[in-house]
Amino acid sequence: MGYQALYRVWRPQRFDEIVGQKIITQTLKNALITQRISHAYLFTGPRGTGKTSAAKIFSKAVNCRNLKDGEPCNNCATCLAINEGSLNDVIEIDAASNNGVEEIRDIRDKAKYAPTQADYKVYIIDEVHMLSTGAFNALLKTLEEPPTNVIFILATTEPHKIPATIISRTQRFDFKRIKFSEILQRMEFILKEKQVQYDELALKVIAKAAEGGMRDALSILDQATSYGDGKVTYDNALMVTGSVTKKFLVDYFKQIQLKDTKEALLTVKKLLNDGKDPQRFIEDLTSYCQDILLYNQAPEMIEEEDLGMFDDDFKDLAQSISEDFIYQAIDIINETSQSMRFTDHPDVYLEVLTVKLTHLNKVEATNLSSASVDNSVIEQLENQVNELKQALETLQKKSNTISETPKPKPQKTTSKQHVKINLSGIYGVLDQATRKDLNYFINLWPELMNSLSVTQRALMHVSKPVAASDDGIIVAFDYSFLYQKVNDDIELMDALQNGLDRLTNRVPKIIFVPEDQWPAIRKQYLSNKQPNKEASGVESAPKSDIVAEAENLFGSEILEIKND
Ligand SMILES: [Zn+2]
Repeated sequence: MGYQALYRVWRPQRFDEIVGQKIITQTLKNALITQRISHAYLFTGPRGTGKTSAAKIFSKAVNCRNLKDGEPCNNCATCLAINEGSLNDVIEIDAASNNGVEEIRDIRDKAKYAPTQADYKVYIIDEVHMLSTGAFNALLKTLEEPPTNVIFILATTEPHKIPATIISRTQRFDFKRIKFSEILQRMEFILKEKQVQYDELALKVIAKAAEGGMRDALSILDQATSYGDGKVTYDNALMVTGSVTKKFLVDYFKQIQLKDTKEALLTVKKLLNDGKDPQRFIEDLTSYCQDILLYNQAPEMIEEEDLGMFDDDFKDLAQSISEDFIYQAIDIINETSQSMRFTDHPDVYLEVLTVKLTHLNKVEATNLSSASVDNSVIEQLENQVNELKQALETLQKKSNTISETPKPKPQKTTSKQHVKINLSGIYGVLDQATRKDLNYFINLWPELMNSLSVTQRALMHVSKPVAASDDGIIVAFDYSFLYQKVNDDIELMDALQNGLDRLTNRVPKIIFVPEDQWPAIRKQYLSNKQPNKEASGVESAPKSDIVAEAENLFGSEILEIKND
């Protein structure tokens, strides 16, 4: 016999073996003992909580020749036949694949006939919410005039999709998520029976990942066992569940708290290198945030649920993080989780998320009153003031030497923030730009990105070349706050140019531009260039009017574009 999955081998054969649904199994046993059997049951609840197992045990018990205390004997001919799935009177139907009117009419027709071998015909319709409207109507007719000795057991994870008319004709049982501790005990029991060694912590990781479903728990346990050469180790449990060790999460949160973008990105990189699933990491992060909130508000709950899975590191961290910070983090994590579903590059989102999280307090601080502005913000403002002063001085000097040059037209920008844009540099590149150069750098880009450090790569991930000439590249940025950051990052610029030098043996200049402003800038450039062309008849004027104007006025310094 080949290998059989744990959840099959250890599928409960008696009501007493169903874990975590004591009230339901006791009620069903009482009904069997007192012979008050309903003709239709509805079993609802999350997956893997014992609905189908209970239905099968019930179908045995109701037909068993040696029923004892409401439990089937699992030994008589009927019980054995049902266990083998060979008794014609117990019919299992998966509504997910048999959801039409025809199938249900067929059941209705056949249900009229008396059971052939057993006392009761039992129809178990799994995933019953998948039935079509027509099929529900056909089922309703059957339930309204139930044939004698026929029992319907409808099982579903989504009871809200079942018509009220159906529900009202059934006896409903809501199966609960199985408690962490009960899943844990069941796994311990099975492993002891099988004489398999295990780390206690490994089982806790698995029990947590199963989220209240026994079938999931046993499937994960199966995998962890096969990885671990017969032993269930903590590392294998983490690997199989894709969970992140608590240590990782504590480190990551500390790095976020310290706004240490570089270290936080290294942590993410290590995770990804270890083969963790980014989506799973996001889930772990969310769950960790919730744990922190819960711990701060009701520590006794978390202690009970996780039986001391949280160590001193976690407690220290939880106490040092503000709730406000956690709520903001949860928002950002949720957003990322949403966008991640539609991408082939979840790792990129994870890195952007990390950059965002490590900038969380800064964003917060700039939005708040002066009382909470920290030093870095003051520093930023000082820098901006100095830049403005310099620009003003240059402007005054230049305008003294020029008398009749018309003023440049004000630029249109779409962003509400004001950002510095090196317009003259952009125009300089555009004057020489070709499609061929652009394609060349687009192809080169991934390789160039690989030459950067983790932090730099994360910043550059949301960038792309949008125009290029022989000696210049214009690079657009998706997020304006990242644009600001890279623009001030001299090391990054060095790294990019070194990379280009190594890859192409030349050092084209790189000019950044916020993506949302790029279309307007390009349009402005083209409309400025057009009349110049017509007037001079020269195909490529060395410099467009506006650049000449801008340079006359500002030199090749940075142009400040502001919104009004
Ligand atoms: Zn029996």
